[in-house]
Amino acid sequence: MKAVVLHKKEDLRWEDIPDAKIKDPHEVVVKMLAAGICGSDQHYYKEGGIGTAIVVREPIVIGHEGCGIVEEVGSEVTKVKKGDLVVLRPARPCFDCYYCKHHMYTYCEHVQHLGSAALFPHTTGLFAEYVSVHEVQCGVVHNLKPCVGAFAEPLGIAYSGVNALGNIIGKDVAVMGAGPIGCLCAAAAKTVGANSVTVIDIRQEPLETALKMGADAICNSKDHPEQMDKWAEHKGSFDCGIEATGNGFAAVQLMKIVRPTGVISQVGMYGLGHEPKDLGPFAVKGLKWHSVFRFYEEFGAVIGALDRGLIDPTPLLSASFTGDKCVEAMQAALDPKTMKVEVDFNGYKPE
Ligand SMILES: [Zn+2]
Ligand SMILES: [Zn+2]
Repeated sequence: MKAVVLHKKEDLRWEDIPDAKIKDPHEVVVKMLAAGICGSDQHYYKEGGIGTAIVVREPIVIGHEGCGIVEEVGSEVTKVKKGDLVVLRPARPCFDCYYCKHHMYTYCEHVQHLGSAALFPHTTGLFAEYVSVHEVQCGVVHNLKPCVGAFAEPLGIAYSGVNALGNIIGKDVAVMGAGPIGCLCAAAAKTVGANSVTVIDIRQEPLETALKMGADAICNSKDHPEQMDKWAEHKGSFDCGIEATGNGFAAVQLMKIVRPTGVISQVGMYGLGHEPKDLGPFAVKGLKWHSVFRFYEEFGAVIGALDRGLIDPTPLLSASFTGDKCVEAMQAALDPKTMKVEVDFNGYKPE
């Protein structure tokens, strides 16, 4: 079978790898249809890793956002059956460590994360014709297109970001960043009852997409810095905020416009040198700053939102490529103007 394999920085190949096999009675083999390229996949490709902590040390099948059909099931599988359309959760916890025993699966000490170079040997990802995963990584869906199902993982991150805010029914939420994650955060916040969601970015086109995804209002903070100043008056104008840029400057702005004692959910990851430089506004407002890392239990919310059409992520899909065009797909994903790029397998084509 064929897969998209990253050999090293900027060396991505569509090539033969050994067939995906069931190695554990709880595993299933999934025939892949659509898979999304994430920011982390782009870091693997451009830099050969993520920061200094995660480095690609051997060829790795990348990708952790995907949707496919169950092709084969292990002898003890009960949650899915052959022929089921499934969206995939990247995390496979060990079910044995302190955190797993306390149902804190996101923080499992031995978690295997699809398409991640964090462990050695690296964990095989989803950019392949077939993959083997644990049954708990599969969410059965019925009414969605595979190109929509491939948004399950980023939407899981978005729900994780919203979950960190606590109860937001009737609250006014600010979202910094109109990239795919910021837009999905806006959409997720609306489904759980936010009174209003305002998305802020310095790029106009993604902001227009945020409106299509359900944001009530947008602000281009480069063109309208005076609006940001206005929102910061009287110690803030929003009840809580989601930081989805990974840019420290945006985080500081968010701290200024969220009212005292509000929660800020930190979804964006700061690259070295991009951390917030001025924690003054944070220090004087009793704000709670909640880090968000991956997701686990939010998977149920994701499946419901996508399968019932509560959230339609198609405005975020910029382009799709077949697996053999993986380098073109990666180049398209790296273009700052694109939102989400997907790679399709086994003849699947989004209509
Ligand atoms: Zn992702
Ligand atoms: Zn564990």
